[in-house]
Amino acid sequence: MDLLLRDVRPVGGVRADILIRAGRIAAIGADLDAPGVPVEQGHGAIAVPGLVEAHTHLDKTVMGMGWYENAVGTDLRAMIDNERAARTALGLDPHRQSMRHALALIGAGTTHIRTHVDIDTDHGLAMLHGVLETRDRLAGQVDIEIVAFPQSGLMVRPGTADLLDAALAEGADLVGGLDPCGIDRDPKGHLDTIFALADRRGKGIDIHLHEAGDLGAFSLDLILERTRSLGMRGKVAVSHAFCLGMPDWPRTQAMIDALVEQDIAILTTGAPSREVPQVKRLVAAGVRMGAGCDGVRDTWNPWNRPDMLDRARIVALRNNLRADADVELALSVCSAGGAAVMGVAGYGLDPGCTADLTLLVGRTLAEAVADGAPRPLTIKAGRVTARHGAALTEAP
Ligand SMILES: [Zn+2]
Repeated sequence: MDLLLRDVRPVGGVRADILIRAGRIAAIGADLDAPGVPVEQGHGAIAVPGLVEAHTHLDKTVMGMGWYENAVGTDLRAMIDNERAARTALGLDPHRQSMRHALALIGAGTTHIRTHVDIDTDHGLAMLHGVLETRDRLAGQVDIEIVAFPQSGLMVRPGTADLLDAALAEGADLVGGLDPCGIDRDPKGHLDTIFALADRRGKGIDIHLHEAGDLGAFSLDLILERTRSLGMRGKVAVSHAFCLGMPDWPRTQAMIDALVEQDIAILTTGAPSREVPQVKRLVAAGVRMGAGCDGVRDTWNPWNRPDMLDRARIVALRNNLRADADVELALSVCSAGGAAVMGVAGYGLDPGCTADLTLLVGRTLAEAVADGAPRPLTIKAGRVTARHGAALTEAP
């Protein structure tokens, strides 16, 4: 895993070479000399640390399976039930599909993924097993963190909590959750269950919270309460958190202050159809913030693309980020921000950091985001994983 990367511009700065030794950045400077080390030419492209997809669902995509004709609409419960049935009807193979999705992300410059994986009483741990196999197959190309996710509900489907526990025993890294009021209609039961599971197994939590306005604020308060009382500061993340987008400044400020106090991370997709947490405001307050594309080409919708540079553009658009520095912030949420949420050690483009990086063709970082810049080369721990936007490993 030694490599000399010639003629790149680290985070858009001056041209330099990057020398990688044993998978780590050993030196950055002009005209580095490293006899015998393989060389890649950067041709003046921008080098950035690997992109981080911090909220997705590798087990859901129908990529490569033809067009999925969606006749479900937007009712959340209907979409959940439809998906559970469609997995069987379509013959969706979670390993094959998660390989396709993960390899597309690698092609687009991704080096780290946090994926939620459905755990339910119809399919048991089948999706987890498929994604675990993908994680093993792609080890060394991308790091995959798995959230055991009760997509169909927890209290409303007895047996799910035991399956979540089994998923943690078999290799899931975090406990997921979902709209404790809206889906389970039992916020205390839902949150007590997932926090107890996480506490017992020493795992973190990443909970989907779509509930908007007062209802979401109520659920968020219950999450904060449990984080505080169990001493889980820094181990909890909330995905979506649309309630933080409500137009009540003092109310949301109190929530943001509480998030900072308990170091609860927020993951956003910049959902165009919802009120979303304001990236600039939360980051300025000190909230760890990452982003993700969410489900890509699945039974929920046909819109998202497996590309965190595209996501940076969507986050920027949704947050009214226009100045170059603000567009760079959107990119940083899609890279360093997600890495901070996932607790990735040695992330960055400094000597000593793991050599996880991707090249962007463009004059500046903001231009690269605006253009969805080509990515000629992606490197994971010193190994080339993708060229010209395509992973070197062929998708099944
Ligand atoms: Zn999601």
